[in-house]
Amino acid sequence: GHAFVNIAILGGTFDPVHHGHLRAARIVADTFAIDEVHFIPTFVPPHKTRTGITSAFHRFAMVALAIAPFDGFQLSTIEVERLERRYSVDTLELMRDLYPDASLLFVTGTDQYAEIRNWKNYRLLFDLTSFAVVNRPGFPMRHDIKPVEVVERQPAQPLSESGRVYYLPRLEEDISSTALRERIRNGGDASEWIPPEVQGYIARNRLYS
Ligand code: ATP
Ligand code: MG
Repeated sequence: GHAFVNIAILGGTFDPVHHGHLRAARIVADTFAIDEVHFIPTFVPPHKTRTGITSAFHRFAMVALAIAPFDGFQLSTIEVERLERRYSVDTLELMRDLYPDASLLFVTGTDQYAEIRNWKNYRLLFDLTSFAVVNRPGFPMRHDIKPVEVVERQPAQPLSESGRVYYLPRLEEDISSTALRERIRNGGDASEWIPPEVQGYIARNRLYS
């Protein structure tokens, strides 16, 4: 069974996955005694995307390659298998059903958290999960949405009930998938930011070039 596990959730387009995502997952896992980190790639239907977005299946495969070395990192199909875009609140309700006794911790960067009032049913989100917001350079943490608990350093603190917002200021990864797509398109080197297996996959499938 899945009783009493602490599950962190990292949703994203992962186009492509990079060290910013992996380090965000690591720092949250280490800080909160997380048992499982569920990476949830979004399904973005081909007709609703910016030009040239990568197929959900390639994005999914890249996450699989990137997280393979890490104990406790898991790849979730719950968004891609629907073959339609899903809102975070719907995914979280499904996670609540699948893991009724788990503590859920939804991981976002400060850029995503700043926009949370625009998410579907954002108030309900706080009934379903707590948030771990990791610093993203250039996006200051917002303290005007909910009370924020700043978590400066380890060791782990226990996960509490839903509705809490933790802020982890220690991450300083100034990188985005958008910048990496651009760099690869221009023939640049992305090895500082993308695991070698994922780089090989990108090259073999000629993604972003
Ligand atoms: P894009 O440029 O295509 O939007 P991205 O780099 O922002 O890509 P996403 O898949 O949009 O990656 O991000 C998924 C989640 O990871 C979001 O919550 C985002 O805030 C977080 N995240 C991504 N990159 C970083 C980073 N460098 N530092 C902290 N959090 C990050
Ligand atoms: Mg983004």
